[in-house]
Amino acid sequence: MKPSPKNAPRRNNPFKFLLIIALIGASLALLFPKDMSTISTEKPEEISLTSFLEKYQQDELKTIEIKDSQIKAESFDGQVYQTFKEPSSNIKDLGLNDLTKKAAVKVVDTSGGKIWFNILIGVAPFLLLIFFLIFISRRASAMGGGEGGPFGFGKSRAKVYDKTKHRTKFTDVAGAQEAKDEVTEVVDFLKNPKKYHKMGAKIPKGILLVGAPGTGKTLLGRAIAGEAEVPFFSVSGSEFVEMFVGVGASRVRDLFKTAKRNAPAIIFIDEIDAIGKHRGQGSGGGHDEREQTLNQILTEMDGFEPDTSIIIIAATNRPDTLDKALLRPGRFDRRVHIDLPDMVARQQILALHANNKILASGTDLKKIASKTVGFSGADLENLLNEAAISATKKRQKDITQSDLDNAVEKVSMGPERRSRKISEDEKKIIAHHEVGHAIAGHFTKNCEPVHKISIISRGGALGVTWFLPEEDKYLVSEEKMKDEMISLHGGRMAERLIFGQTTTGASNDLERISKLARSMVMTYGMGDSKKVGPVVFAEKSKGWSGFDFHEKDFSEDTARAIDEEVHRLIIESEAACTKILKEHLPMLKKIAEDLLKKENLSREEFLAYFK
Ligand code: ADP
Ligand code: MG
Ligand code: ZN
Repeated sequence: MKPSPKNAPRRNNPFKFLLIIALIGASLALLFPKDMSTISTEKPEEISLTSFLEKYQQDELKTIEIKDSQIKAESFDGQVYQTFKEPSSNIKDLGLNDLTKKAAVKVVDTSGGKIWFNILIGVAPFLLLIFFLIFISRRASAMGGGEGGPFGFGKSRAKVYDKTKHRTKFTDVAGAQEAKDEVTEVVDFLKNPKKYHKMGAKIPKGILLVGAPGTGKTLLGRAIAGEAEVPFFSVSGSEFVEMFVGVGASRVRDLFKTAKRNAPAIIFIDEIDAIGKHRGQGSGGGHDEREQTLNQILTEMDGFEPDTSIIIIAATNRPDTLDKALLRPGRFDRRVHIDLPDMVARQQILALHANNKILASGTDLKKIASKTVGFSGADLENLLNEAAISATKKRQKDITQSDLDNAVEKVSMGPERRSRKISEDEKKIIAHHEVGHAIAGHFTKNCEPVHKISIISRGGALGVTWFLPEEDKYLVSEEKMKDEMISLHGGRMAERLIFGQTTTGASNDLERISKLARSMVMTYGMGDSKKVGPVVFAEKSKGWSGFDFHEKDFSEDTARAIDEEVHRLIIESEAACTKILKEHLPMLKKIAEDLLKKENLSREEFLAYFK
């Protein structure tokens, strides 16, 4: 959420402190008077006090200036004299108060300046100390406290939503219909609590928005703020986690106090996983702090009067890490899932964000939506932005379909890196490797169709074979996982069949194969049930600050059986892959040759080889 203007600027900076010091210095300099003599200081002639008084009596002097024990005088003919008197003797003692004489007598009072100087010397250190303390405390509160001026550590940094500034509405959230319905109900509850109370319905206390990053949880929170006609307090979980223990808890207290004063109200805690992690894990200051903050939230949620109209909405993408106590009835007992958008939702999100962009006529967002399985709302927004940037760079008058297509690839695979110099020999290996993936995948039953093959480096990859699902899928079958392993073997096996050896380029493939096989055996019960059985085997790694140790919930014998099963699955899929590639070896060579020339092969170009 954007910070409200109240909180936005950091009011303090080190320069301000330096400025204060400079000001003190300057005023010191002013108060410490300089020699304000009106007599030119040009080499005065030193004379005795007697001869000076003589000259005075004879009216030779125009001006006389007395400063402490020093007397300076200027005669009418421009001569400057200097003499000294007893510090204790004054004008009267010396007889310089004769009004019949022409000389103008001036006494420069230095004692006043001295007093000020002395006071300053005494007080300045204290002043400096006070300034310094204020400076430190304001800095600290600027880092963590925000409101409240000096010593405002424990104040919550919640932002009250300013409706006149942002106006996010539910219509700004495309798709996510169930989530919207759910929160609409909540907003209605706060607008008309009587209606619900009469029926005996209780207001839910806490709602947890759960969804992958970029699915629009924060956006939905903002939309609730825009729609609800009640005060809306928004904080991010990470804002509670401070370097001072106890600050988080006191902020929670403050936040709830403010909300209660303004009830009915909504409190939105974004990214609650920052505080809501399982308690009692490990040690260290950070954990203690989190625990205290979490406990305070629980206490506050329990402490509501049943009819207090405060609803707490929290968002997280890691519900599994949340403390069970948070999810208990009476706390965040309602969960609203925001899924990755499906085909229709993707099209709606694209349309929404295309509103302020200039699309060429004939662009088809539906096609883009169908190509972007697995993209989040944020990815889609990013895609459109990338397309707009590239259209601008190319000085086009609008965004074309090919800009959009390129942006899909850029967002999902990283930007092309044409500057990377790759030797011809290496290019040849890369081409055969990628075509190996494509052919192995193409001849299995369950792999996604090949969408594109490319030997242009992108991000970290030297080449890519891009398989693209044609529709949203929610279940993955055992057969499909096996087929995926076959196509993953394709690159390495093609290198072996064509060049007689393999390269390091396959390491990522192998990693993914191993992961797939391991999860098949350990998580999905897809291994041979006589050997390992349809059991979920968990291997937790318990993180402790500094230490990491694995904890298995199965015996060494089982571990060996699992390893054997995983090995079997991998070997079998490798054999299947080799068989496919051997059958289509001439075609593999031919396509790789063409790919070397063209650098990219589209789905249509690839399919044409098999007609
Ligand atoms: P989250 O908080 O779930 O990680 P955000 O709410 O921050 O995700 O989403 C990031 C951006 O992605 C939003 O600002 C919005 O522009 C875009 N976005 C995400 N989901 C949607 C959606 N359903 N409709 C419209 N825009 C969306
Ligand atoms: Mg967010
Ligand atoms: Zn590969």
